[in-house]
Amino acid sequence: MAHPTRRPTDAAHSLESSYDPPASLLNQPWIDPHTHAQTLSWRDREQYALAGCHAMVLVASGYHWTPYKPVAAENIQYLWDDVINRQRAIEREHCFDTGLAVGIHTGVRIDDADELLDRLREYCRLDSVVAVGETGITPTQHVERWPLEGQRDVVREQFAIAAENDCPVILHTPAASSTTSELYRDGVGIPGFERNDELTQEPVLDGDNPALQALEENIALAREIGFDERQLIASHADANNAELLLEATDCLLSFTLGYPWLTGVTAETVAKFVHEYGPERIMIETDAANVLDTDVLAIKRSIVECYRLGLSVEEIEQIVYENPQTALSIGK
Ligand SMILES: [Zn+2]
Repeated sequence: MAHPTRRPTDAAHSLESSYDPPASLLNQPWIDPHTHAQTLSWRDREQYALAGCHAMVLVASGYHWTPYKPVAAENIQYLWDDVINRQRAIEREHCFDTGLAVGIHTGVRIDDADELLDRLREYCRLDSVVAVGETGITPTQHVERWPLEGQRDVVREQFAIAAENDCPVILHTPAASSTTSELYRDGVGIPGFERNDELTQEPVLDGDNPALQALEENIALAREIGFDERQLIASHADANNAELLLEATDCLLSFTLGYPWLTGVTAETVAKFVHEYGPERIMIETDAANVLDTDVLAIKRSIVECYRLGLSVEEIEQIVYENPQTALSIGK
C-alpha cells in the first residue's frame, strides 16, 4: 500500500519479520520467591506493585542487617521480628501478598545458634511464615569463620524444623564467583556492594569450586535426614550449579536476576535451562536488597526478554507465577 510520506520510509518496504510479541505479556502477574524488600524504600516497593508483582517472599535471615559483631542469636531474632512487625502494613499499602522466610544464614558465625534453632521452631508455626531460609553451607564468612562442622549442625537442624512443619527451605547456594578487577586499589571491595570487605575471612571450603562443594554439602545434609528435595528451593541458581541440580536432584531452582553485574546470571541463562530441561522446576527471583545495587524490576523485564529468547507464553507464566505460587503457597 502506498504511503503518503514525503519519500519512502521503512514502512514502504516489505518487512518480513514474523516476530510479533503478544501485548498480554505486559499484564502477566508475577511472584518474587526471594527478596529482601523490607530493607528497601517505599518507592522500591511501589515499583514492585506497579510492575505487576502479585506476591513476594520477604526473606529475613541475613547478617547484613545486624549491626553488632559477633552476631548474637537475639540479633537474628530481631530481623525476624522486624519483618513480622511490618508485613501487614506493607501488604496493605502496596496491594501485593507477602509470605515470610525466617532462618539462620551461615554467612557469619552466630553465637548461641542452638538457642535460635529452638525459637525458629516456634516461628515456623506462624501462618505468615512460608519458608525456612535463606540458609545453607557458606564457603566464606564475614567477620568470623564458622567451621564446617558447626555450619552442618545448624543447616541440618533447619532442614529438620522445615520438615516438621511441612515447609520449604530457601537454600542459599553461593554464586560461582564475584566479578572484580585486579586493577582496583586495596580496600575498594566490590563496587555495587556496601560491605566491609576487610572483614571477609579465610574460606572454610577452598577446593576448585567451593560454590558447588557447598551445594553438595547441602544436598548431603538434606538426604541425611530424608528431607523432600521437592521442598528445597535452590536460590541463586546459576550456570555453575544448575546442571547438577537439574540432573542429580529433585530440587526447585530459582535464578537470581537482580544483579547480573555480580553473578553473570541473565534471562538468557534462564532461557537456556528452560529450553533444555523444561519449565517445571525453574523460577526467577530478584533477591533485591538495600546493601547491593539490585533491580526490583528484574522479573518484570525478564518476562518480555524470555519471550524474545524463545520461551512460550505458557512457559513464562509457569516460571514467573505458577511455580512460586505452588512452591511457597503465596499469591493465591
Ligand atoms: Zn537473599
